[in-house]
Amino acid sequence: MKIHPKYIGFDIDGVVADTMEAFIRLAFEEYETVVAPEEITEFQVEDCLDLDPLIVDEIFCRLLVEPGKSGLRLMAGAKDVLTEFAEYGPLTFITARPQREPIADWLAEQLGGAVYDRARLVATGEHDGKVDHIRDLGLKYFVDDRAQTCIQLSAEGINPIVYHQFWNQGKHELPAVENWAAIRGLCFGP
Ligand SMILES: [Mg+2]
Repeated sequence: MKIHPKYIGFDIDGVVADTMEAFIRLAFEEYETVVAPEEITEFQVEDCLDLDPLIVDEIFCRLLVEPGKSGLRLMAGAKDVLTEFAEYGPLTFITARPQREPIADWLAEQLGGAVYDRARLVATGEHDGKVDHIRDLGLKYFVDDRAQTCIQLSAEGINPIVYHQFWNQGKHELPAVENWAAIRGLCFGP
């Protein structure tokens, strides 16, 4: 085994959850606005999209408060890999979301009770507040889609793994993964 799965922690949005798909779908269904994935080149989407910041706010608010009703889905392959990793130790999720309960319910529903029972979930409420939790929970690696978070973790001696997305492309020189098969590969090889 290359990396023991129990040492890897996961961000939720843009890593475990396909938040971009949900954002684009809600923008179209609720506001008749077409957004292409490759247009989302900034983590703060209002900085790169020609979309009313109030609309951006409304969409993200819905995704925070009612992820299940919003149709937020797991990223392709995430369920199988997390189910497998759960056999090796607790799963750890650390999100910058401010509210824990809605995303906890969503995660339990998506992963199923048996896998969710093996999960630890922290909602920090701030993007730059993950380091202490990562240390306290004994993690050595952390998968996140926000380049600034990964750069900060690296400076703090934690091994970040950037989950490749259009908004982190060209913004870091850190190890990266393209999908969940690659995350599995970090532990068990190709
Ligand atoms: Mg994220």
